[in-house]
Amino acid sequence: APRKLAAGNWKMNGDRAALAQIDALAAAQPAPGCDVLICPPATLIQPMAARAAGTSIAVGGQDCHASAAGAHTGDISAAMLREAGASHVILGHSERRADHGETDAGVAAKAAAAHAAGLIAIICLGETEAQRDAGETLAVIGAQLAGSLPPGAGAANTVIAYEPVWAIGTGRTPGIDQIAEVHRFLRAGLQGRVKDAADMALLYGGSVKPGNAAEIFAIADVDGALVGGASLKAEDFGGIIAAL
Ligand code: 13P
Repeated sequence: APRKLAAGNWKMNGDRAALAQIDALAAAQPAPGCDVLICPPATLIQPMAARAAGTSIAVGGQDCHASAAGAHTGDISAAMLREAGASHVILGHSERRADHGETDAGVAAKAAAAHAAGLIAIICLGETEAQRDAGETLAVIGAQLAGSLPPGAGAANTVIAYEPVWAIGTGRTPGIDQIAEVHRFLRAGLQGRVKDAADMALLYGGSVKPGNAAEIFAIADVDGALVGGASLKAEDFGGIIAAL
């Protein structure tokens, strides 16, 4: 069975003062078998990793380049994230797909680079509201999964996060049945592609809060959450971790 994971995505938020959250979360002691991860902006990875040393809290990046090094102004390689103290990296978030034109093939290349550097890739996918309304959800998710997963992906180096674009930052979430349908579909889609599909963690993301976390975590094939806004406050993120 997959390990449970509560992952916080700070996006372009937070500062050094916000690192105090690490102390609060560490004091709350997540249950054994549950992993806690925070992905702050790149400039905070190193100080956050230093602050989290000796706790069970892991630190991750929010993106990396597909190349190991070179003339790519403004970019960061997977090995640089690793050296700064990251164990994970979020890839293909819908905000990067929208803001930076990231494609499935580009995400797969980044994931391969992450794996080569020893990072766990959290590969994000999800439909837009127009795609859901058009009945295209599973077709979209299926294509993203097929295109974004690199060769060599397995439960030890890859996590999949289902984040419906229309549920991100909106306070709206799919129905329980809708989340269950997509996660069942993802698990089945992984069966033919990776050898240990049953052990790969599948996260749900999009307006997860302390108040809805328990019912989302109770859904079959939901192994945790990728949390945006509610990960910025230790009290809220702690409540989500407690529900895991
Ligand atoms: P919210 O939890 O703010 O909806 O964001 C979800 C998300 O995009 C996490 O990656």
